[in-house]
Amino acid sequence: MNMPELYQEIILDHAKRPMNKGVLPDATVTVPADNPTCGDEVTLQLRVADGRIEEVKFTGQGCAICMASTSMMTRAIKGKPCAEAEALYRRVHDGVRGSGEMPKGELGALSGVKDFPQRVKCALLAWEALREALGVRKGGGGERVVTTEG
Ligand code: ZN
Repeated sequence: MNMPELYQEIILDHAKRPMNKGVLPDATVTVPADNPTCGDEVTLQLRVADGRIEEVKFTGQGCAICMASTSMMTRAIKGKPCAEAEALYRRVHDGVRGSGEMPKGELGALSGVKDFPQRVKCALLAWEALREALGVRKGGGGERVVTTEG
């Protein structure tokens, strides 16, 4: 990887000391997600009430990009209305794929990922789990495993 140094630092820092890692016993939705291409596995848990993400935690293991992206995501969505989290998902999804601008702030550290197509799945894994978690809440459907394959 040859990303700007500042970005690397933010990513490595989050990967070493992820925010909101742990189990959420009173979660209202739990979404396991895996990225077999890299071996990343993340289970995202949210506690949603009145259309707001009150609490968020995750467990799992993955590469530095995956862990950093997950950590930053949990920090960005905690306490936010679901609609805002969904809007952020779209921006990050487009930004990481290079078809849009990344949000400002520390999430901008992921903007370099678009130059490494094989890492895009790593960066988006937790965000896809988030989208599923928000969808499950709205649709009231079953919880399915999110995978980057198929
Ligand atoms: Zn990975």
